[in-house]
Amino acid sequence: MELFAVPDLPEIREGDDLAAMVAEQVDLRPDDVVCVASTVVSKSEGRTADLADFPAGPRAKEIARSLEDISGDEKDPRFAQAVLEESTEVVMDKPFILTETHCGHVGVNAGIDRSNVPDHDLLLLPKRPSQSAERIHEGLPESSPVVVTDTSGRPFRHGQRGMAIGWAGMPASRDWRGETDRDGHELQVTVQSVIDELAGAANLVSGEGDGGEPIVVVRDWEFGDHEGSNNLFREMHGDFVRQALRGWEYEG
Ligand code: GDP
Ligand code: MN
Ligand code: MN
Repeated sequence: MELFAVPDLPEIREGDDLAAMVAEQVDLRPDDVVCVASTVVSKSEGRTADLADFPAGPRAKEIARSLEDISGDEKDPRFAQAVLEESTEVVMDKPFILTETHCGHVGVNAGIDRSNVPDHDLLLLPKRPSQSAERIHEGLPESSPVVVTDTSGRPFRHGQRGMAIGWAGMPASRDWRGETDRDGHELQVTVQSVIDELAGAANLVSGEGDGGEPIVVVRDWEFGDHEGSNNLFREMHGDFVRQALRGWEYEG
């Protein structure tokens, strides 16, 4: 397989047609997977915002105050308010704000970015990343599958990596259950989150800084002859780590 960045993309503005921009630069093939950083999806959808748009309510003020106590740095309660408004549930409110966003993705600060955002304070995640992916997918000449990615931290490990937050035109996962390993044993549990793996690979090409390469084409990778599934985000029922966090207290 091969991965390459779509060249010569400008600063993305509200209303830009990302599918057309990709099609202009790359002769796409139907089985290419187009991975798009959520940053540019958000910019094209006008998801920029300013702190002034989020007058802080009592909960946001309380969260900001306790984060300030912990870090010793000044925290803007309007940022906490933006995070709350972008979220359906607060998973942890200290020592950082970890929330579930409207699409089901759990991330620090609801995935709101403060870097690579000219002229505004904040860039919110796309409201419905899979719908965004669907729109781009349908706009591409060969209807190639699309994965919308974001850089995200993970529990248990240092470092951030690219993850999928939306997708269209392909299943989220490759289901290996029922297939056999090299010893002929039937696989019982392995469902491979291929969109996260593609997102991680694409993020290797994009990087995190001023590279200006937010869209990456994955070529000559095949989903193969496997069952697929579209499960990505765990439900609370069956998410034991998240259940355990419900009774957890921050101790410093
Ligand atoms: P995120 O991981 O989706 O939050 O996006 P990042 O802020 O990490 O940016 C990913 C890549 O896209 C980096 O290489 C940035 O330089 C690039 N990038 C961000 N915004 C733009 C843009 O408007 N135009 C172009 N050409 N590149 C951008
Ligand atoms: Mn981001
Ligand atoms: Mn990133």
